[in-house]
Amino acid sequence: MPAINRNPTSFLGEEYKALVDQELDWRLRILQGPSSTRCIVDGKKVLMLCSNNYLSLSTHPKLIDAAIRSIKTHGVGSGSVRPIAGNMDLHIELERRLAKFKHAESSLVYTSGFTANSGLIPQLVGKEDLIVSDELNHGSIIDGVRLSTAERAIYKHRDVTDLGRVLNEAEKHAPAYRRILVITDGVFSMDGDIAPLDGIVKEAERHGAMVYVDDAHGEAVLGEGGRGIVSHFHLDHKRVHVEMGTFSKAFGVIGGHISGSKDLVNFAYNKSRTWLLTASHPPPVAAACIAAIDVLENEPQHVKTLWDNTNYFKKGLVGLGFNTGNSQTPITPVIIGENATAKKFSQRLYELGVFALPIIFPMVPKGTARIRTIMNSALTKNDLNDALAAFEKVGKELSVL
Ligand SMILES: *Cc1c(COP(=O)(O)O)cnc(C)c1O
Repeated sequence: MPAINRNPTSFLGEEYKALVDQELDWRLRILQGPSSTRCIVDGKKVLMLCSNNYLSLSTHPKLIDAAIRSIKTHGVGSGSVRPIAGNMDLHIELERRLAKFKHAESSLVYTSGFTANSGLIPQLVGKEDLIVSDELNHGSIIDGVRLSTAERAIYKHRDVTDLGRVLNEAEKHAPAYRRILVITDGVFSMDGDIAPLDGIVKEAERHGAMVYVDDAHGEAVLGEGGRGIVSHFHLDHKRVHVEMGTFSKAFGVIGGHISGSKDLVNFAYNKSRTWLLTASHPPPVAAACIAAIDVLENEPQHVKTLWDNTNYFKKGLVGLGFNTGNSQTPITPVIIGENATAKKFSQRLYELGVFALPIIFPMVPKGTARIRTIMNSALTKNDLNDALAAFEKVGKELSVL
């Protein structure tokens, strides 16, 4: 008989310590005050270069006003899940506005992007089906795929030819798959590169597969007026069947969403347990998200400035001699190499007043540790010059340049 384990929770401390010993634990920084481009982190004034708040909408007066007003009219909580008593007029209005913004027949809001992916993917495909996924897809897609009983296949990152190979293989499967779902991030968050959605759609059409794109980092960034990747490639929801996204990044609030056909939305909300069994957003969340759509529709300058800043900063980094990989978006990685150097780099940037965190193995392949920068429309040219000067100084200090 095995000895009785006298401390059934000893693994908690042991596994945590193992992470600490390998310096793989998260040491959380504290943001004191709002997420803005000039902010206070752990008591020090810094330039924010790593938030997903691309357009600084989290502090936009229209969003703040809308949130406050909605608290006065609707209170701070919704009281229930949406299928019971928590389906407020504000939620319906948000979905109507989002569908219009996305040129979709219909949209559905989830609590978060994570719950949209983890709740919907396993309903779209199950036994007898196949899911085909880019090798670098986001963790919430990976969890959604794991919750599905479908078979899985991976294609090489952004490689339409390899996707074609996987789909050709799938055609030979006996018995034939009932359904095939091709799923990809729109913008990949570690490298800032864009999925070749036009090529993916053509390949999927050749094989009768559904297409699902997670555009968390493309919304309010890519496409006409920030409408996202489907608009960027001049596609529509007859060809991209599920356009999924989040209100937590450039929209500046929180919440996941999908857009597509009415059939998709009816199916999704009746089947996703992460939609049916979790409370709906508090009124200020829904109201602020509606206001964010208003801002995107009426103040096109934010997206434009975001791209002007992005181009200026990228050019500056490349001019200094940094390796910025394959970035095509406001996510610009500065690839350093070793984990320890990337960590030191980030620490020195912080000391010089620039907040940008290292992304290290195992989040990215060994030897490609990086500082991931995310551009913001509210950064000024002066801010960007200050940031570039800090990068240059640290790059030389640590012999990265
Ligand atoms: C951030 C992100 C999510 C999760 O969105 P939340 O709304 O923050 O849960 C999902 N997919 C991708 C690609 C993301 O970058």
